[in-house]
Parts: sequence; C-alpha cells; structure tokens
Amino acid sequence: MKLLCALLIALLLCGCGDANKDSVDLADRKIRVTATIGQLRDAAEVIGGDRVEVIGLMGAGVDPHLYRATAGDIKRLEDADLILYCGLELEGRMGEIFEAMDQRNIPTAAAAEDIDPNRLRKPPEFNGKYDPHIWFDASLWKLACEAIRDELVALDPGSESIYNANFDAYAEQLDELDQEAKDAIASLPENQRVLVTAHDAFGYFGRRYGMEIEAIQGVSTVAEATPANIKRLADLIADRKVKAIFVESSVPPSTITALQKAVQDRGWNVQVGEELFSDAMGDRGTVEDTYMGMFQHNLTAIVDALK
Ligand SMILES: [Zn+2]
Repeated sequence: MKLLCALLIALLLCGCGDANKDSVDLADRKIRVTATIGQLRDAAEVIGGDRVEVIGLMGAGVDPHLYRATAGDIKRLEDADLILYCGLELEGRMGEIFEAMDQRNIPTAAAAEDIDPNRLRKPPEFNGKYDPHIWFDASLWKLACEAIRDELVALDPGSESIYNANFDAYAEQLDELDQEAKDAIASLPENQRVLVTAHDAFGYFGRRYGMEIEAIQGVSTVAEATPANIKRLADLIADRKVKAIFVESSVPPSTITALQKAVQDRGWNVQVGEELFSDAMGDRGTVEDTYMGMFQHNLTAIVDALK
C-alpha cells in the first residue's frame, strides 16, 4: 500500500495529468470542486450553487482518519479547479497527496486551517495538535463556509455576487441552527448533559452547546480503545446514571457495545441511542446527506435519548 501510494505521488509530481487548466477561462464553464468529507462537499454545493460541479470523495460511513486515496480519487483531484479538504490531519493518510497537488498549482484549501487557531481546541490527548472536527460548532462551520466562499471568489471573480448571496443566506441558517442547538441542550436535565461516543469527534459540540464529552477512543480513530478507558467510562456512566451512549456511522459499534455491557455489569442499564453522524454524513440523497440534516438528526437523537 505504501509503495502504491509512493507511485501515485511520483506520478502526480511528474505532472503527467491532463489539460493545462490555466488556458481555460473558468467563467465559460462550471468550477470543478473536489472535496474530501461530505460536510465540505455540501458546503461547496450550497455556496457555489449553479456555478459549481462538486465531487465528494468520502461517502456515507467512511472514516476520514483512516481513508486512503484510490487511483480514481487521484484523477478526481487532478481534474479539479479547487480541492477542498478539512486539514488539521483529519485526512491523516492523504497529506502528501494534497502537497503534491499544491505543487502542481491546483488550488487546495484546508477549510479548518483557515480558522483563527485561538478558536480551535487543543485536546490534551492529541499530542499538542488541534481538533479537526470543526463542523460540530455551527459558528465555526460558518467560518469554514466563509473560507470556501473566498476561494470560489478568487477563482471566479465574475460570480462574486452569486457566492456572496448564497453564503449570506446560508450563514443565517447556520446562526439559527446554532441557537436551536443551544436551546435543545439547555432543555436536558443537567446531570444528563454528557455525550459518550466511540471516538472524540464532538469536542466542539460540547464546548459550544454545553455538554460534557467522553469518548472511548481519542480524537483520531487511529488511537486504540484501551480497557482502562472503557472501565473509567463504565464507572462514570453507572455512577451518574447516564441514560444513553451513542454509536457513530463511520466507526464500528463494537467498542460502544462493550461499554454498554460493562455498564450493565455495574447494575445500570444504559441504552445505545440512535446512530450519530460524526465524520461522515448520511446516504446520498437523504436529508442526513446535508450538513443541516445530519446536524439536526444528531441533535434530535441526543435530546430524545437523554431527556
Ligand atoms: Zn473523527
């Protein structure tokens, strides 16, 4: 796999791709955007509107921490006018590919890396690095969307008014969602404002909306689930009589099932709530395949299980 990856990167650097995009006037056709996670694909579609054609590399249930690019992905990245990724090592196994694309002058934008670091979390267990899961704070996601708007304007200045109008309308919806989330979590009994998931994707959600966040694995699914951590969480859940814990669509449910069993062994029957979308969105064409839809799904699932 390493060798294949090295070969792909060598191919990329020699630039034996297709047409020289500089010679094409982007005003004459749609802007081709290739995005990694579904959240970014959706944002580019909303802000770009009819001016863009967006391809998403990672579909429902895909874990970006572990994802490796396929040969088909390389072609989709090469053909793009703009490559959108989250950055902050979310797509941990694709870093060299983005660098190679950048060297070939294909504009690449790491949406999370455009945000003021003072607004980012630096979880102690993540070796001094920033938490990349910015989409679970709607106010931070608005900043990422603003960065996407700016990238599109830079590429296609003639359509600036379209991008501005789309962004402004969406920013209002994000503000409403932000308030809705604050109200929903505030409606929970205080002792139930604990969100336990398989991996630590909800740190920004907890910080913004007032929930304590606990996870079996760390910020990246590359980290191991240790028996000591399962024991610690089982004690906490049983002591505080937390009603529910949650599986995520992009992480195998086995660690959450093991935790549920450990809590039951302590005499407390914790439920497994409805599946949450953490790093991937819902199936293509469903409401949960939009940022708004997946966020609202999570909110409802959390509140219903813990109220
Ligand atoms: Zn994650």
